[in-house]
Amino acid sequence: MSKIIGIDLGTTNSCVAVFEGGERVIIPNAQGGRTTPSVVAFTKKGERLVGEPAKRQAVTNPERTVSSIKREMGSNYRVKIDGKNYTPQEISAIILQKLKADAENYLGETVTDAVITVPAYFTDSQRQATKDAGTIAGLNVLRIINEPTAAALAYGIDKEQAQKVLVYDLGGGTFDVSVLDINAGVIEVLATAGNNRLGGDDFDSSVTAWILSEFRKEKNIDLSRDHGAMQRVKDAAEKAKMELSGFPETTISLPYIASDRRGPLHLEMTLTRAKFNELTAHLVKATIEPMRQAVADSGVNIRDISKVLMVGGSSRIPAVQEAVRAYVGKEPFKGINPDECVALGACLQGGVLAGKVGGLLLLDVTPLTLGIETFGGVCTPVIERNTTLPITKSQIFTTAAPYQTTVEVNVLQGERQYANQNISLGRFRLHGVRRAPAGVPQIEVTFTIDTNGIVNVAARDVDTGVRQEITVRSSTNMSQMDIDRAAYEARQYEAKQAQRQQQEDTDERARVLLRRAEEKAGTLPKNERELLEFGVKRVRKAMKSRSRQDLNSACDELEKALDGLN
Ligand code: AMP
Repeated sequence: MSKIIGIDLGTTNSCVAVFEGGERVIIPNAQGGRTTPSVVAFTKKGERLVGEPAKRQAVTNPERTVSSIKREMGSNYRVKIDGKNYTPQEISAIILQKLKADAENYLGETVTDAVITVPAYFTDSQRQATKDAGTIAGLNVLRIINEPTAAALAYGIDKEQAQKVLVYDLGGGTFDVSVLDINAGVIEVLATAGNNRLGGDDFDSSVTAWILSEFRKEKNIDLSRDHGAMQRVKDAAEKAKMELSGFPETTISLPYIASDRRGPLHLEMTLTRAKFNELTAHLVKATIEPMRQAVADSGVNIRDISKVLMVGGSSRIPAVQEAVRAYVGKEPFKGINPDECVALGACLQGGVLAGKVGGLLLLDVTPLTLGIETFGGVCTPVIERNTTLPITKSQIFTTAAPYQTTVEVNVLQGERQYANQNISLGRFRLHGVRRAPAGVPQIEVTFTIDTNGIVNVAARDVDTGVRQEITVRSSTNMSQMDIDRAAYEARQYEAKQAQRQQQEDTDERARVLLRRAEEKAGTLPKNERELLEFGVKRVRKAMKSRSRQDLNSACDELEKALDGLN
């Protein structure tokens, strides 16, 4: 069985881990980073950049750069680039493809199976969209698990005694807080709250604004109109913020940031943690209300929360930790890298599925009630929220009108009383119902929710046996045909990219050999030099021909000649 990777597909950063040799391991990306920015860019030459290279060029290429696509998962949103519309699933698939390729590079083997995490509040269509993104990227998504559940797994809390845990997750662009109930290996998300427009980026913006205003005061120059300068200021702001998590003050130094009549101007300032706390106090405060809300919704008394897990890179900010400590009245639990623990939890779940981790039973629950629309537009629940997955449940319904031979099943998700107040996951019709007075036919409706939270609904006329079923796909999601097409395109692109990479590698090899030959030629007697020059000419000619095969064999010859010289 191939290795199963665990993926934290984040709004700002993604992270991938694997359970290997009895250990959980974070897989570094091709650039050496342990997390990869969830940013995709399309160059004018038709290439795709993912991660750090895409993030770096974002300011100068904003209309061809896509970030925070996770916010649009499961919606009708489309990204239009060069006349082509990309679904959020397709953009996410580009990120997943890069993570898959990095994992394959690291492990030295093909990777096909993955566990992917999603926020606990993700609806069925958002979960389905995430799974579809995996399929497009060539991944077999074995399981979708909730991010706070993954964090709890990473901390090994599932093995401890029954308890209530608060997971505080402050990332780059989103904030989530969840209250979990952990009991005998069952991890139940009791409540979640948050703000999906609040995160580390806002702390960076506050520092950026301060730097700009200080520079304006000092030098009377507005840097905000200079794209290049702004990129440097933003990067410096984030760096300063991170340094202040470990030190009481930091210097921000940006030489040659601008110029005026007097010549080049340099930016040099000191930011203290106290000043940083003052600039960002409103952001820290904005996380308190969702915490209160989640605790209230969970019905748990705050004194009964036995642990607080800090997740997300921004949870390292000391003022954030202080605020959580003050609110919950407990020291936040640290120890695992907060931007890695979700991926680590996911890879543990992968280990369980691969049979490599024992003694761990992970059961998730349905986040929302599932039901169908019945007479009078009422939502009749079939599976209540917080039911442990997987689950199959049937209920008998009947007809509302005399002699109706068709019933429409409107599948609903939500807690409200009326159908139109809940989310409709999909509709289907059961034809061939036995002709009978209203209320006589018996229609058995069966809901099945698999371990990924994906819903299948079947309706059956008990008398005639006619049956109809659907796997719920919300109308905003992609059809199977669209997914297959996108997966095909992704594979095509990957193959083209691999070819391009091979060509680049061969070109680079040729350039290195030509340099070596040039250096060597000056030291050689005429006959040997001529031999070398012959090889050099062949390589140059092959470079022009763009035939990789010719270039490789010319390179082999030249390399042999060079190696034979001493
Ligand atoms: P995540 O989305 O969990 O990867 O978190 C990314 C966010 O964490 C970014 O805004 C980072 O700037 C922020 N971050 C990472 N390390 C630190 C740190 N040491 N102090 C403060 N913020 C950090």
